[in-house]
Amino acid sequence: MKLLGIDLGGTKIAVCLGDETGTILSARRMPTLSPEGPPACLRRTADLARALLNEAGLSARDLAAVGIAAPGPVSLREGLMLRPPNMAGWINVPLVKWAEEAFGCPAYMNNDANACALAEYLYGSCRGTPNLVYLTMSTGLGAGIILGGRLIQGATDLAGEVGHHVLDLNGPPCPCGQRGCLEIYCGGMNVANRLRERIVAENIRTAILDEAGGDPAAIDFRGFLAAVKKNDPFALEAWDEYLERLAQGVGNVIMFLNPQVILMGTIAIHAGDLLLGPLRERVKRYAWAPSVEACRILPSALEGRIGELSALAVAAAGLGRTDKTVLP
Ligand SMILES: [Zn+2]
Repeated sequence: MKLLGIDLGGTKIAVCLGDETGTILSARRMPTLSPEGPPACLRRTADLARALLNEAGLSARDLAAVGIAAPGPVSLREGLMLRPPNMAGWINVPLVKWAEEAFGCPAYMNNDANACALAEYLYGSCRGTPNLVYLTMSTGLGAGIILGGRLIQGATDLAGEVGHHVLDLNGPPCPCGQRGCLEIYCGGMNVANRLRERIVAENIRTAILDEAGGDPAAIDFRGFLAAVKKNDPFALEAWDEYLERLAQGVGNVIMFLNPQVILMGTIAIHAGDLLLGPLRERVKRYAWAPSVEACRILPSALEGRIGELSALAVAAAGLGRTDKTVLP
C-alpha cells in the first residue's frame, strides 16, 4: 500500500513515499520558506511529491492516502493548521482539503508531536509500548501521548501541549501570553534568546559567545551545548537551571500520565548523557518513586527519519491500516 508522507515544518518540508510498515521508498526535503505563504509553498510541495512519484514510476492514483505532520495547533475535525507560532501568516490553512484535491485520495493530518508519538509507537525502538510519551525537543517543546495504546487528542486537539504548562507564575513571559511556561525555560529557541539577552545586557564573557563567533545574534542552543561540554562556568550555571526546569516538566508528565517510556527528540539526542543522566536523577524530586521507577527516559532512535516516519504513521493510522488500533 503506497502512502505519501508530508512533514511540514517551520524551516523544512520533508516529502516521502512509503508504506504502512514504515518502509521509506524515497524521500526528499526542501526549505519551507514560510514567508512565501501557504499557496506558493503548497504548490512546491505538490511538485516535489509528483517528482517523487514520477521517479518511482507511479502516479497519484497509486496512493492509498496522504499523511501530514504539521506544527500545532491543528484542528483534526476541520483538517486545518490553525496558527503555528513560528509561521506568520499561516492561519487556518486547510491542509487536508488541499492534499485530497492535489492527490485524489484520502488525507490525514496531526500535529508534529502527536505524529512523532505515532511513529514511535508503530515503528520505533519501543514500538507497541502502550503507555508512551514522545517529547519534541527542538525549537519548541511538545508531547505526543499514547495511553492504553490510544493516541490522546483531547477535546480540541490540544492534549500534549506540555511546553505551555506553567512552572512558575512569576517566571519570564512566554510568547504564548502566559508566564513561566516549560517552553520558556527549555525550548531551544527561547533558551538561546534568553541567554543572548543576559550575555549582552550583563556583558558576560562566555564560551557561548565564542561558539557564535562573537556575534550575539548567532547564539544558538548548539553553541550552548558546546560551551557546557567545555565546562564554561556561565554555561554550566545556565545548564543547571535548564536541567532543573526540564526535570520539573518531565516529572509532572510522569506524575500525571504514569508512562512506561518517555522518548526525547533532538536536544536530548545531541546532548546524550549530559542531559539524560542528570534528568533521570532530578525527576525524582517531582514525581513519586513508583512512577519514576516505571518510566524509562530514552533518546529517540528514529532521529533523522522521524519526520518522514511521523507523516507515514499519520496516514497509516488514519486508514486504520496498522497492526494496532491507535486512534480513538
Ligand atoms: Zn507558553
